[in-house]
Amino acid sequence: AKLSKEEILALAAENKVEFIRLQFVDILGIIKNVAITIEQLPAALEGEIMFDGSSIEGFTRIHESDMYLKPDYDTFTIFPWENESGRTARLMCDIYTPADEPFAGCPRNVLKQVIKEAETMGYQMYAGPEPEFFLFEKDEVGNLTTRTHDKGGYFDLSPIDRGGEARRATVIALKKMGFEVEATHHEVAPGQHEIDFKYTPVLKTADNIATFKFVTKIIAMQHGLHATFMPKPIYGESGSGMHVHQSLYQNGENVFYDPDSELGLSEIARYYIGGLLKHARETTAILNPTINSYKRLVPGYEAPVYISWSAQNRSALVRVPSARGDATRLELRNPDPTANPYLATAVMLKAGLDGIKNKIDPGEQTIDNIYEMNYHERRARGIKNLPSSLSEALKYFQTSDLMKKTLGDHIHHHFLEAKKIEWAVYKRQVHNWEIDQYIATY
Ligand code: GLN
Ligand code: MG
Ligand code: MG
Ligand code: MG
Repeated sequence: AKLSKEEILALAAENKVEFIRLQFVDILGIIKNVAITIEQLPAALEGEIMFDGSSIEGFTRIHESDMYLKPDYDTFTIFPWENESGRTARLMCDIYTPADEPFAGCPRNVLKQVIKEAETMGYQMYAGPEPEFFLFEKDEVGNLTTRTHDKGGYFDLSPIDRGGEARRATVIALKKMGFEVEATHHEVAPGQHEIDFKYTPVLKTADNIATFKFVTKIIAMQHGLHATFMPKPIYGESGSGMHVHQSLYQNGENVFYDPDSELGLSEIARYYIGGLLKHARETTAILNPTINSYKRLVPGYEAPVYISWSAQNRSALVRVPSARGDATRLELRNPDPTANPYLATAVMLKAGLDGIKNKIDPGEQTIDNIYEMNYHERRARGIKNLPSSLSEALKYFQTSDLMKKTLGDHIHHHFLEAKKIEWAVYKRQVHNWEIDQYIATY
């Protein structure tokens, strides 16, 4: 660890920290907090703080509910905003059972397991995400809406662009928290934004995504706005994705780069692509875990629909950005920000490693725009579809050995159960679209 126990205690005292949030995420990727006072920090750093796991979605049964929070010292971060009650810091935690075993329902433990596997193969994964989100107004009584200030996009330069201000404030807060923000911009849709942070070792990337989401929500709230990561809040507008750039390093060198090959891509990079593509259908439920996720994965909005790779165009599922050398990387384009960052990175890495182990050839890249091909052209080239609904994605997920192996039976089972319920509830609803479409005609 970069910081020792003593150093963390000293930092907390120096900055007059009053409260510490011990954080972890549940299976659905929702961040959970156990707040403790500064007096309890020494015990917390020893991993002595317990919580009742039975109250957390899909976690444990009542009779085995005591869980321990083991903080990762590297994640100690002081929140840059002041609370009336005093300064607050956080520590990201792994969850352990009373028998001192890593708890099978802890997504962070799952990712660590896959990282270990990569390490035994000699690789370290780096990942850089590009999360997109919308900033919406609230109405007079504080209810959430899908209205934005900058309707029309072009009038973005108006002096009351609260969205732009909130985004800048978010970037400043993130930088104070140690993020290296690489780029930030207004996205295609009105009220849509993107903040990209620099690639880091994948565990840190997952922590960063989890942190980024709640920081963005807090800062938006401070600006009277609501930040949402739901993938497709507005029909007919672009959705919010979270492309993930990925590369593998060995002894400090990027092993995806090979200057002597045609595209500058190594054999390992090609196999990694092969693994991502081969397992694309099984991993979709984790990478696009909500019903709304599939409203984004439609042609025409720069979101992927078909399973292919390309160094040329953005309709492909895996794109190879043009940078080479140390920056050689692959961009997987279907993930969206509703994905659990730990499970999402775990399944991407696992699929890539499987490609390397089994030397899975990704085939020829697709240079043409796939959106413009018809069914027969795609079939002739062997280009398959991503699942088009959560229900379809769950069918692939349910029978996937790779997903069971990656996530373990506990998470595989609980995730599936929770998502099947989500689908069953959705399926029974009568949506506005149906009323509009049928009520007069029939
Ligand atoms: N919003 C698009 C998506 O859903 C991505 C647009 C872009 O970043 N080029 O993935
Ligand atoms: Mg981008
Ligand atoms: Mg973007
Ligand atoms: Mg991108």
